[in-house]
Amino acid sequence: MRQALFIPMTEAASVPSSPAAALIDGKAFAATLRQRLAEQVAVLRTEHGIMPGLAVVLVGEDPASQVYVRNKGRQTLECGMNSFEHKLDAGTSEADLLGLIGRLNSDPQVHGILVQLPLPAHMDANKVINAIDPTKDVDGFHILNVGLLGTGQKAMVPCTPLGCLMLLRDRLGKLEGLSAVVVGRSNIVGKPMAQLLLGDGCTVTIAHSRTQDLASVVRQADIVVVAVGRPEMVRGEWIKPGATVIDVGINRVERDGQNKLVGDVHFDSAAAVAGALTPVPGGVGPMTIACLLANTLTACCRNHGLPEAGLAA
Ligand code: NDP
Repeated sequence: MRQALFIPMTEAASVPSSPAAALIDGKAFAATLRQRLAEQVAVLRTEHGIMPGLAVVLVGEDPASQVYVRNKGRQTLECGMNSFEHKLDAGTSEADLLGLIGRLNSDPQVHGILVQLPLPAHMDANKVINAIDPTKDVDGFHILNVGLLGTGQKAMVPCTPLGCLMLLRDRLGKLEGLSAVVVGRSNIVGKPMAQLLLGDGCTVTIAHSRTQDLASVVRQADIVVVAVGRPEMVRGEWIKPGATVIDVGINRVERDGQNKLVGDVHFDSAAAVAGALTPVPGGVGPMTIACLLANTLTACCRNHGLPEAGLAA
């Protein structure tokens, strides 16, 4: 059944067509989340004299990573938190990077540590991530946090899946009993997303590049989360009428001589069938940084034995 147009919290983002489905406005949701975080940070500062701090480490000059790091730093400061940026030369040795992580682990001003991926080829990303103090691992990639999430315990939850979960809960309320298909099985998005949906009582299928007849697998789902990195791969014909579709993909394509961002879902055909879906840009993307800030606040509260703000999962 087609659901009425529903825009959470504020206005819809502008989109290329007039969809029949509701637009899940991640940009507005993230702005409201950041505002609430800023209010809680202000309370921490005035009542407890504590300033949450996020350290971001960038190795090398990858242009996309530089943009991400700049945005993270700006939004961290806007929320009233401390931002510590460490930019290292691409030729930095793994030992030097591990040394920096060791210093950040023991720095009481730093509550969250994020090492921007990808790292240069001469570094072992798993070794680097697992050197981060798990209580400061605001990306949620440390093996201990992966294990805690997988066993349903209190963990640092990876930011992009956490943002998707928040949007789904805001749109659908309780997710219990719904059937969910996650397309993509990466450690960063697909697998933790599936764990979170399982934790909320969904019946979860994880699809990937070896899945047979992907279209009919997707068509079973009330909730579809797509994180494959293939422009507009999932089409409206694959989607169950009324399903909620979360498009994690960010793909830069050339259209009519212009550079454009598109998701992993074909927006126009999906919008004609889905009950609700996220646009690209303006859907999941803005939620990722907002959840990084939420995780930093959570880490800070846990570190100081204070009640958590209750914003994260
Ligand atoms: P990965 O490349 O790590 O994983 C992609 C997954 O998609 C793999 O599991 C792969 O399967 C699967 N896949 C690839 N092709 C197909 C296919 N034809 N059919 C079914 N499954 C397929 O990507 P990420 O998870 O890191 O990212 C996915 C997308 O999300 C990218 O566009 C990325 O830019 C975006 N992203 C967006 C973020 C945001 O903040 N909005 C944050 C992180 C990522 P297999 O394992 O079998 O190879």
